[in-house]
Amino acid sequence: MRLHTLLRYGAYPVIFGGVAAFVLTWSTLGRSPWPAFMLIALAGLFAVAVLERVQPFEADWNHDHNDTATDAIHVLVNMMLMSGTAYLLHLLVGRVPTMTVWPQSWPIAMQVPLAGAILDVGLYAMHRLSHHVHWMWHLHAIHHSAERLYWMNGDRRHPLSALLLAGPGLVVAVLLGAPAAVISAWLTVLTVHLGFQHANIDYSLGPLRRWIGGAELHRWHQRRDYVDAQVNFGEFWLIWDGICGTRFDHPTPVRANDVGLDEIFPTTYSAQLHWPFQSRRQVS
Ligand SMILES: [Zn+2]
Repeated sequence: MRLHTLLRYGAYPVIFGGVAAFVLTWSTLGRSPWPAFMLIALAGLFAVAVLERVQPFEADWNHDHNDTATDAIHVLVNMMLMSGTAYLLHLLVGRVPTMTVWPQSWPIAMQVPLAGAILDVGLYAMHRLSHHVHWMWHLHAIHHSAERLYWMNGDRRHPLSALLLAGPGLVVAVLLGAPAAVISAWLTVLTVHLGFQHANIDYSLGPLRRWIGGAELHRWHQRRDYVDAQVNFGEFWLIWDGICGTRFDHPTPVRANDVGLDEIFPTTYSAQLHWPFQSRRQVS
């Protein structure tokens, strides 16, 4: 089998599958998530970044678009936000009243996907709202303003948008009694998945592309035309898109100049943080 084909179909299952296997095993053994989950997430993202150099989807997307330094800050801030949220959950669980409906007796390998499904429904709903409620779109638009897709785009988000997207699902999962370690495990595998979802790698999920939100279908969500981009909202699963009629697939792939927004966005991190609160923005 040619190396190109091997990487095309093997990249996601090997790297994402490896991270998921590690996280599930670590959780099953009852080991502390910190700092192991953070380190394995970074290792997964690093592998995605390396593969972008080996087998890019668009050669142009591997070049700096005056965005690398700012995106690196986005990654740093949002990974700290994720770790902080996970740490807060560890503090909260057991101190706030929760329901007793969570299936604590299930194997960890089943509890983690269950928590993931709850968080993913919340993310899907909040993501759709972020495209339809004006002030939420202005916070979310920074994510869509990227002129190229690569591994750091998954974290190119205004911190308030990140909290809005993930918050409701997290609250529901905690109130249902999901253990903090289980939620942390899902957030870790989701981080690596989001790296893949935006990755500039010529890879494919094969027949799973319609069910798991990989780059092939997610690139349609990042299209420049706002009307065309109202598809494939799913963060991990595309099941919710399938149910709600927002799943879109097409044999002709999205190419280099098709992503981004028409409005000119600031390039520095602080200016991007302030952008949603400025009155001169035009994007809608
Ligand atoms: Zn979006």
